[in-house]
Amino acid sequence: AGRQRALFCLDLDNFKVVNDTLGHPVGDALLCRVAARLLAFAGEGFVARLGGDEFALVIDDAGRSLDRAATELLRIIGEPCVIDGHRIVPGTSIGIAIIDGPDCDPVTLTKNADLALYRAKHDGRGGYRFFEPAMDAEARKRRQMELDLHDAIAGGQLSLMFQPLFNLSEARVSAFEALLRWNHPTRGLVSPADFIPLAEDTGLILPIGEWVIREACRAARHWPDHVRIAVNVSPVQFRSPGLSAVILQALAESGLAPHRLELEITESLFIDNPAATLSSLHGLRDLGVRVALDDFGTGYSSLSYLRAFPFDKIKIDRSFIMDLLSSDGATAIIRSITTLAEALGMETTAEGVENAGQLDILREQGCSHIQGFYFSKPISEAHVAAMLHD
Ligand code: C2E
Ligand code: CA
Ligand code: CA
Ligand code: CA
Repeated sequence: AGRQRALFCLDLDNFKVVNDTLGHPVGDALLCRVAARLLAFAGEGFVARLGGDEFALVIDDAGRSLDRAATELLRIIGEPCVIDGHRIVPGTSIGIAIIDGPDCDPVTLTKNADLALYRAKHDGRGGYRFFEPAMDAEARKRRQMELDLHDAIAGGQLSLMFQPLFNLSEARVSAFEALLRWNHPTRGLVSPADFIPLAEDTGLILPIGEWVIREACRAARHWPDHVRIAVNVSPVQFRSPGLSAVILQALAESGLAPHRLELEITESLFIDNPAATLSSLHGLRDLGVRVALDDFGTGYSSLSYLRAFPFDKIKIDRSFIMDLLSSDGATAIIRSITTLAEALGMETTAEGVENAGQLDILREQGCSHIQGFYFSKPISEAHVAAMLHD
C-alpha cells in the first residue's frame, strides 16, 4: 500500500460558546489555540481556515492510517484550554476526502469533504467520516426536500395534530400537545422526525415554528380554561431573538391567556450556553407562559439546571416507560424523578404510555400526568372539540 493523502475539513462543534464572541477576545483566542494545534499536527502539511470556525488541512498518512490521524486530531483539538478564566473543551467534527490521483479536482474534493463533514456532524459531535459516493445522492435528496419544504409553508401543506395529556388525579384532560404534520403532494405524510432536522439546518424552522405557535394558540382559544396547549420549541427557535415577539403576537391575535400556553424545550439547550439559556427561560416566564422540560432523561440530564430554573413540568422520556414492565430499574428511575419533581413543585408527564400495565406502575410511582397511545393517539382539531364536549 502506498502513501495516502486526504483533505480533512473540520468544524468546531462547541463554538456556540464563541458564536456570540466571534471577533471578541475569547473567541479569537480559542480560534488561535485551535489553529496552532492544527499547524503543529500538520507539520509540513497544509492548513487553511475556511472561515468562521471551519478549517481544512491536507494530511499525508506517512505510514499511519488516516483513521489514526483522525482519531489523534480529535484528541489533540479536544484538549481543554483555559482562556480568560474560562475552561473550554474545543469539540470538532471531521469530514475526510481521499486525494487519489490527477482526476480528483479541488472543487470536487472540497465538496466531498464537506459532505462527509455534514454526515459527521449529524452522527453526533466529536466524530469523523470519510466521503462515500452515496452522500451525493443524500445531498441531492436533502436539497429537493428543502425546496419542497419552502413550498410546504406557502402551500398550506403543514397541519397540526393534537395529543391529549391526561391528569391522573383529576381524571381529565389537562392539555393537548401540538404535533406537526407535513402532507407532501407526492411523498404523502412526512414525519416531523424526518423534516425538523432539515428545517433546523436551513433556518426554515423559524417560519415553521412561528406558524406552529400561532396555529396552536388559535386552535386552543375556544377550549375550556383548564385545557392548555403544549408546543414544541426547537433549540434553533429558542435561541432566535424573535421568539418572544412571536409568542406575544400569537397570544394577542388569539386572545389566549398566556398561562394556557406551555412551551416544551429539551435538555440539549443547557450544554452549549447554560447562562444564556437560563436568561431566555426567565424572559419567557416573564411573558406568563409555562415551560416544560421535554424528553427528560435522554440527554445531558443534570440536576443543576432543575435547581436553576423552576420548570412547570418534566416530561419523562418514552424510553423509560417502554422499559417499565421488563425492568425494576426503570421503575426506580421513575420513582426518583417523580420524587424530585414533587420536591421542586413540578408536574410530571410520562410520555408514550401504551398499556394498562405501564399506567398502573406510573400511578403507583406518583406520576401526575400521562400521554400516549393507551389514552389517545394524536387527533385532529375537530376530534379535539368532540373529545372535550363528551
Ligand atoms: P416529542 O415531542 O417527544 O413528541 C412525542 C412523539 O411521540 C410524537 O411523535 C407522538 O406521536 C409520539 N407518541 C405519543 N404517544 C406515543 C406512544 O404511546 N407510543 C409511541 N410509540 N409514540 C407515541 P411525532 O408526532 O412523530 O413527533 C416526533 C417529534 O417531532 C416530537 O417528539 C418532537 O420532538 C418533534 N416535533 C413534532 N412537532 C413539532 C413542532 O411543531 N416543532 C418542533 N420543533 N418539533 C416538533
Ligand atoms: Ca461550528
Ligand atoms: Ca414534545
Ligand atoms: Ca417528548
